[in-house]
Amino acid sequence: MPNDLPGAQNWPDTTLAPTPPLIGAARPADAVLVDKYGRQVSYLRLSITDRCDFRCHYCMAEEMEFLPRAQVLTLEECLRLASVFVDLGVSKLRVTGGEPLVRRNAIWLLERLARLPGLRELVLTTNGSQLARYAPALRAAGVRRINISLDTLRAERFRQITRVGDLSRVLAGIAAARAAGFERLKINAVLLRGGNDDEISDLVHFAVAQEIDIAFIEQMPFGELGHSRRPSFLSSDEALALLQADFVLVPSAETTGGPARYWRIPGQTTRVGFIAPHSHNFCAACNRVRVTARGELFPCLGSNDAVHLLPLLRAHPADDALVRAAIAQSMGFKARGHDFGQRLDAPQLVRFMSVTGG
Ligand code: SAM
Ligand code: SF4
Repeated sequence: MPNDLPGAQNWPDTTLAPTPPLIGAARPADAVLVDKYGRQVSYLRLSITDRCDFRCHYCMAEEMEFLPRAQVLTLEECLRLASVFVDLGVSKLRVTGGEPLVRRNAIWLLERLARLPGLRELVLTTNGSQLARYAPALRAAGVRRINISLDTLRAERFRQITRVGDLSRVLAGIAAARAAGFERLKINAVLLRGGNDDEISDLVHFAVAQEIDIAFIEQMPFGELGHSRRPSFLSSDEALALLQADFVLVPSAETTGGPARYWRIPGQTTRVGFIAPHSHNFCAACNRVRVTARGELFPCLGSNDAVHLLPLLRAHPADDALVRAAIAQSMGFKARGHDFGQRLDAPQLVRFMSVTGG
């Protein structure tokens, strides 16, 4: 495993072999992750940092305590883990956080992830704050699609939601990403009653003008205990009804490999998606697992059951067998589904969303 991390200024690293990923490379017949409900896991969401330059109130506390560096996966460990997952049949990898682009040398990692034999799709979720700087390098590294979180187009409101964020930087990031030529860009907006429900059409108009996709996400019950989500929860059905007053929306059977259900606006390239874990549970089709920045594998976002891979990685630096076995065993406790629908007021998951990466 390489340990010569280039400085942030030095990428892209021209010493990398230019060969494309070996799509569909042969692997042993038993090398697949299937849980006890018969769902095959082909999608890993890998958080590469718990840190972030924003403090979105639905995701983080105002005063966050971040992990000491020694408890965070090194970039080499991220690469090694991803490689094991791909060997076990994962074909789609989303790099997330915290904010993945605040992790030093994130591009170094992405360049290498993109070249993992058997990986078909490398995508990224970002708050967009660093995109103006990194978009060309991300595209050159092999990232194909980017999701950019954006809940509002009003600067003051943006500051309130993110507590510290600067809307103009995100808009500049979106412009840079468009110029860099990604296959697809998508805005992710969390639905917030009293927060952005009066802007849902504006956000879609913005996406149409930018010729990018947009997905609205129902707020999930993560974060601080005692903070009910009921007052600010807005369902995707309500949001769809609001939109239908302004747009003709035609249901589409398209999928981007995730849980979003899409609608098309006739004559436009933009797809409008809804991710509705509360109102339209999609657990039966779940194909994903999550790894946190400290190497915990969560087979289900809605459960606290996890297996800690970091100690195994460090205890066996040259042998992946135990890590591989632990990942395979985790399929035995992947929950059938979450119960977010019951949890708007009830005790919530104490984990912050920034820990599991969305
Ligand atoms: N920092 C990056 C970003 O904001 O895109 C990546 C990490 S963030 C945790 C990933 C996604 O989770 C974002 O689109 C964010 O809006 C969403 N998210 C965070 N907390 C959420 C919550 N409580 N309910 C629904 N979505 C949430
Ligand atoms: Fe940071 Fe993303 Fe969480 Fe906002 S949603 S605090 S940008 S990790």
